[in-house]
Amino acid sequence: TKPLVKVRDLKMHFPIYAGLLRRQVGAVKAVDGVSFDILEGETLGLVGESGCGKSTCGRAVLRLYDITGGEITIDGRAIGAEDQRSLRAMRPTMQMVFQDPQACLNPRMTVGAIIGEPLMEHTGLSGAERTDRVRELMDQVGLNRAFINRYPHEFSGGQRQRIGIARALALNPKFIVCDEPIAALDVSIQAQVVNLLEELQDSLGLTYLFISHDLSMVRHIADRVAVMYLGKVVELAPRDALYGEPLHPYTEALLSAVPEPDPAMAGNKRQRIVLQGDVPSPANPPQGCNFCTRCPKVMDICRKIDPDFHEVKPGHWAACHLHDLD
Ligand code: SF4
Ligand code: MG
Repeated sequence: TKPLVKVRDLKMHFPIYAGLLRRQVGAVKAVDGVSFDILEGETLGLVGESGCGKSTCGRAVLRLYDITGGEITIDGRAIGAEDQRSLRAMRPTMQMVFQDPQACLNPRMTVGAIIGEPLMEHTGLSGAERTDRVRELMDQVGLNRAFINRYPHEFSGGQRQRIGIARALALNPKFIVCDEPIAALDVSIQAQVVNLLEELQDSLGLTYLFISHDLSMVRHIADRVAVMYLGKVVELAPRDALYGEPLHPYTEALLSAVPEPDPAMAGNKRQRIVLQGDVPSPANPPQGCNFCTRCPKVMDICRKIDPDFHEVKPGHWAACHLHDLD
């Protein structure tokens, strides 16, 4: 399988202005040099604590922002530097499912109008054809098609997320960024929505970037996993390698807080690693390794030189001086 999505050295810096003249005095480096591929049909999990830049990264990959730097290729087309018009032509290929479906569903539009809106904007389908397609999409996501004229508030949280998913599917995308798609839902219905996303991936051949702070969920759904800290991807590996043999001290600390899913292994539970201090501000990251102010394994070199993100073992990437190759 070949990569459907390629991201190289992606940067998304937000300027900070101050004073009466609103001079730029710095920048929040929300995403600061991130690179990864996503293979066709796979799910790449993107994990990290809140504020690490993972949501910004997902939005930047879809070019919902004017990015500060880097190259993005989706389905063979470079969209890093594209103008808005050519981006618009690419929109159908790439879509997003948001954390809070409530926030992106217009309360005054019927479900049929919400799901059909992208069809209206990007296709020449007639009203009747759009209605047919909306009904088909409702079937696909498990919504009763008889409810096509109802309004978002008449649905439960899980059903509203299904509406958001149907809308994202309307234009037959190849690539979907799922940004914490279940974080706002009741625990009892989270699994249903995850299962739906997995079924749709299989039947439609979708490629996902699945953003989540929930490492157990990502372990379930992702083929490979990237870990973000303070605007950078610090480790990227196939799922089992990342959970079984993490190479980066930050990943080790994150995993040490996750309950062992297999009860037979519960006795071997990793020692919980409690990180000292707070995450530094992305407006003022530390010199050297971004993790050096909190890393239990910090060395002198870490405070001086930013470690390269490199392939330590086949397919297993990390940015840490402990794994520098000689
Ligand atoms: Fe820790 Fe140094 Fe590795 Fe950074 S480079 S994660 S500070 S050991
Ligand atoms: Mg977020």
